[in-house]
Amino acid sequence: MSSFFTKRYAALEPYTPGEQPQDMQYVKLNTNESPFPPSPGVAAAVAAECARLQLYSDPESRKLTEKLAEVYGVKPEQVLMTNGSDEILNFAFMAFADEERPLVFPDISYGFYPVFAQLNHIPYEEIPLKEDFSIDPADYCGGGKTVVLANPNAPTGMSLSLQQIEQIVAGNPDGVVIVDEAYVDFGGESAVCLVDRYENLLVTGTFSKSRSMAGARLGFGIGNAALIRDLNTIKYSTNPYNVNRMTSAAGIAALEENEYYLANCRVIMANREYTAEALRALGFEVLPSCANFIFARRPGVDGGELYRSLKARGILVRHFDKPRIRDFLRISIGTREQMERFVEGVKQCLEA
Ligand code: PMP
Repeated sequence: MSSFFTKRYAALEPYTPGEQPQDMQYVKLNTNESPFPPSPGVAAAVAAECARLQLYSDPESRKLTEKLAEVYGVKPEQVLMTNGSDEILNFAFMAFADEERPLVFPDISYGFYPVFAQLNHIPYEEIPLKEDFSIDPADYCGGGKTVVLANPNAPTGMSLSLQQIEQIVAGNPDGVVIVDEAYVDFGGESAVCLVDRYENLLVTGTFSKSRSMAGARLGFGIGNAALIRDLNTIKYSTNPYNVNRMTSAAGIAALEENEYYLANCRVIMANREYTAEALRALGFEVLPSCANFIFARRPGVDGGELYRSLKARGILVRHFDKPRIRDFLRISIGTREQMERFVEGVKQCLEA
């Protein structure tokens, strides 16, 4: 830390992104990316947009917003496009949470929630998941808080039903409920259908997972138009051109080829079931997943050690050195071939 770093942030513990190694070619199953490239129209749209990079992007991302609204069955004024969904989560924390409406989220969830809370000096409470790693909706009702839930949750992959989400939204009329649906397209139930009925619901989504665009940085929020106006106040006070021209063009093209991504999601779900079955046959406990990853442990096997042995064999997964989940590995689901190589690697590690 330099002597100039402000005291305001001296205690801030930044988020640790998953490894993006450059040293060798891994079977890369550590950051929940899609194994499939973007749809064909995306590359062409990006290439065409390159000729206009001397111009700022549209601060309203109007065409993209209208296209996304159409695909999700909402009005454009209920949508805000952002630079990844990390950005809308940060905007939402800034806009809706403070000392009077502190944040609540599960103790085991997306690691960026406590970081954004600390960055913005918002008090927060972490509510323990139940013994089986599920979320009890009653824990999140009625407290004048700002609730943030990843649904499906990460890194567990476990999902709440739409009915349970509605219970939480209805149980918090005085606070915004942010439902982070980064992984919803792999078998979860979206809460977007509730935004017309609840003025306190904000659903966030991303193009990083099911739409194969993690490197383009595109996320969005869908909610009541008044919430979206508040989020725009934050956006226009930080980065009005938050979605660049190439990403915006890519996003429009991707939404026009939605079928391609739906088909990829079905392949990922099938590969997920294959991998979970194979791991169970090897003695693993695998949590029920509605995401493009699974969370698994083998009783008697140290999670950190298994992570390192797999890495030495060229297979990269994610390990979190945290209480309760130290023995688990989070395995992103890739192609069938990648998953077969992963299962083979696990067998070798266990034999060794
Ligand atoms: N929410 C969850 C639960 C995530 O795991 C991630 C991915 N790291 C994000 C949001 C953010 O993804 P992105 O910024 O790429 O949209």
